[in-house]
Amino acid sequence: MTSTLTRLPRPYQSYVYAYPHKTAYRPLAPRPTLHEVWAGEPRDPLSLYLHIPFCEIRCGFCNLFTRVGAPGDLTTRYLDALTRQAETVRACLGTEHSPRFANAAFGGGTPTFLEAGELIRLCDIAERVMGADLDAIGFSVETSPATATTDRLAVLAGRGATRISLGVQSFDENESRAAVRPQRRADVETALARIRDTAVDVLNIDLIYGIDGQTPASWRYSLDAALAWQPEEIYLYPLYVRPLTGLSRRDRAAADLAWDEQRLRLYREGRDHLLTQGYEQQSMRMFRRIDAPAPGPDDYSCQTDGMIGLGCGARSYTRNLHYSFDYAVSAQEVRAIIDSYTATTDFDRAVVGRAIDADEARRRHLLQSILQADGLPVADYRARFGTEPHTDFPVELARLAERGWLADTGPARLRLSPEGLAYSDAIGPEFFSTAVRAAMAEYELR
Ligand code: SF4
Repeated sequence: MTSTLTRLPRPYQSYVYAYPHKTAYRPLAPRPTLHEVWAGEPRDPLSLYLHIPFCEIRCGFCNLFTRVGAPGDLTTRYLDALTRQAETVRACLGTEHSPRFANAAFGGGTPTFLEAGELIRLCDIAERVMGADLDAIGFSVETSPATATTDRLAVLAGRGATRISLGVQSFDENESRAAVRPQRRADVETALARIRDTAVDVLNIDLIYGIDGQTPASWRYSLDAALAWQPEEIYLYPLYVRPLTGLSRRDRAAADLAWDEQRLRLYREGRDHLLTQGYEQQSMRMFRRIDAPAPGPDDYSCQTDGMIGLGCGARSYTRNLHYSFDYAVSAQEVRAIIDSYTATTDFDRAVVGRAIDADEARRRHLLQSILQADGLPVADYRARFGTEPHTDFPVELARLAERGWLADTGPARLRLSPEGLAYSDAIGPEFFSTAVRAAMAEYELR
């Protein structure tokens, strides 16, 4: 086992949920106005994302942009700023070609950290200010066991939520403590029951493998506890130990082959178990119940269409620019950025971001397709760019083929093999451009 791993790249290098990563963003000089940024951009369809950067605890594995607690009237001031930002963005999009939103999501942090009345405000910002018809398009929201209260869930269900995602991570209380996310199993079960009571279409449960002390038996225990709820979706996340997070302060060698082996073994066991329990694999992390309701009419394509992100940790995407606000992980820096956001009165310019040229657009399109179990329809790539993926990425794709990471799907589709999917977090970084790699390497994490 070890000898095989030493010939291959390390399997857990980088979770490519968006390309380029925020650590490749830089302050924009000059700062373009949003009117300029969105001029000529298609607005039909767009995706809408609202970011709530508050959590009741800071999990040891988490490097998302969030802070613990919200003293005083901070959530009110945050929603005030979110309203100002939404009004400005909506005005900058103009009235001639009104945006049409095909999907929406509330993420974080923990959106349900907000109380019921504040969640009503959040929905109003999406609907009344941005013009997203939440009831028609549905929306996804992330929650946690402690904040999934009946009144908050009722607001979300009443406003049209179609997917509620609960970060459980482990049903074993010792493992939860080891991942620095202490929680009682009984509280998790109560939250799951409350979510099921809302009758929202899709319940997603997040689980983590690779926790200290986790064994194949305890992993199966968590998987079966999740399966007992027959969630429409299950995400299996490998544990990462990231700089500046709670776990990174522990004395653990990151370059730990034994840990890689543990995670690969648990991944395979988890995947195989879910496949025998009526789930199909959508990506390395995502599994969907075969008989789950279809994910609704969605004509939005994450490879090509734009996104409006609101809130101080949200990104926005046009064809030529990805932009956001400043990014940090440490508690002190995150607090400073949130304070600066809540004091902002003028949201009409993009502050931090990265230009997307034709080469980066190709890389992004390929990454966002090939890391899905369905893979990349070559005709889509050809129609968008006028070139062939094998011509644009000869070395990278030959390497995948040599390692047995490409499925034999013929020339019409590029798809990862099951082993390729297992190594998704090693494959993603191989398609990063030299410039993005350099920017990420130079970035000083705060
Ligand atoms: S994992 Fe979720 S609940 Fe935990 S700190 Fe990160 S955003 Fe908050």
